[in-house]
Amino acid sequence: LNGHSLVRKESGILTQHTRSLLRLEKEFTVSGQRLQTLVRHMVQEMKKGLAADGHQLKMIPSFVVRRPTGNETGSVLALDLGGSNFRVCEVYLEGQGRLRMRHRKYVVGDDLKRASGRVLFDFFAEKIEGFLDEIGADKAIERNLGFTFSFPVGQPALAQGHLLHWNKGFQCEGVVNRDVVQLLAEALNRRNLKIKVTALVNDTVGTLISHAYTDPQTHIGVILGTGTNAAYFERIEEIGKWTGPNETGEMVINTEWGAYCEPSVLPITPYDLALDRASTAPKMQIFEKMISGMYLGEIVRYVLLDLISTGELFKGRGSKKLDTPYNFETANMSRIERDHSLELSDTKAVLEDILGIPTTSIGDRRVVKTVCELVGTRAARLSAAGIAAIVTKMNRLDACTVALDGSVFEHYPHFANRMRDALREMLGITAENIILELGRDGSGQGAALIAAIHH
Ligand code: BGC
Ligand code: MG
Repeated sequence: LNGHSLVRKESGILTQHTRSLLRLEKEFTVSGQRLQTLVRHMVQEMKKGLAADGHQLKMIPSFVVRRPTGNETGSVLALDLGGSNFRVCEVYLEGQGRLRMRHRKYVVGDDLKRASGRVLFDFFAEKIEGFLDEIGADKAIERNLGFTFSFPVGQPALAQGHLLHWNKGFQCEGVVNRDVVQLLAEALNRRNLKIKVTALVNDTVGTLISHAYTDPQTHIGVILGTGTNAAYFERIEEIGKWTGPNETGEMVINTEWGAYCEPSVLPITPYDLALDRASTAPKMQIFEKMISGMYLGEIVRYVLLDLISTGELFKGRGSKKLDTPYNFETANMSRIERDHSLELSDTKAVLEDILGIPTTSIGDRRVVKTVCELVGTRAARLSAAGIAAIVTKMNRLDACTVALDGSVFEHYPHFANRMRDALREMLGITAENIILELGRDGSGQGAALIAAIHH
């Protein structure tokens, strides 16, 4: 949507499909000018959040004040709870910037997301023990563990933090306002495991630190996955609310940008409002709900339901599956955006075979593909604005590597290119100084590195 319209006006006469697409395009398009306003406003909000609590951006000091040197050695465990799965890892730091990792990945099902906190943490401890058994580890040896916890916490120390609120569909009771390190330690204790949780790390912080291990130009870590967020190195003298020691150095700040919610700046549509109202945490994580993988498909679903209700799509016939919340997965959007076949046959397969729409015309399928493009492009451009805001705040327009991870960045077609286009629109030629790099699996590695360098 680089200044030109996605919607082709094939003849002078607007078809009904074209008319609705033009309306949607208007609602979902974020102009270059709007992006610049967004950047300016986000920078202001970053400053407010650094000065005091209670603003849109929480700007949480992470207690991570050192970059890895590459000379760290030893073996550290990591537990990485993301949005859709969690991993248990063992990271061997070999020195000279090298590390090896063994890990096991588990899906966090909907049941677990709604279970009690006790059940959740017992599940982690059980899987950690299983992992140690599997790798034949000597359980009598005491080990350190870095805990990657991808939710907002109030963090009074490196190995301490109480959950501020759940996101991404989690609702486990008995965790909000509790110290998650202590909850994990208690669960480990119940299994008599000699494991000490020495660092609590947000996934963005882990991604940043693990990338900085091999590339010292890395100043920002971003997750574009089930949820979204960013962390960066800030000078401690800029953190007005910081009361601890170390007034001269730098510290990683977890921005929690997903909570950004300025209605006068964000292009919020009626579909976003409907999604928010029906979500497990209404009025929260508005930026995240426009960007991350948990929600993109759901936004598309709302648009499609609207077009069906007016008879503009599928001759007004939907399906039970499409009526079910969160049933249009973002992975479906990826597949549709990747579909360049003449008949849009993959799009047809998604709509008819997966979603149970009785029949679709090629016109219908073109509309659905365009809706996906609009929603996916908006997400990429908004996340690029977030990055531009951080780079601007840091004054790093001369050179800055951004480590990114998460399913949306890694797998959603054209996402990275759309981000780069938006960065160019916002920053002109200086956008070339911002390097976006995939930092795969960094969140667990980073937690292990942080546990290794901070004790
Ligand atoms: C959480 C962040 C996390 C992000 C990416 C958000 O929902 O609030 O803490 O970094 O998801 O996983
Ligand atoms: Mg993750």
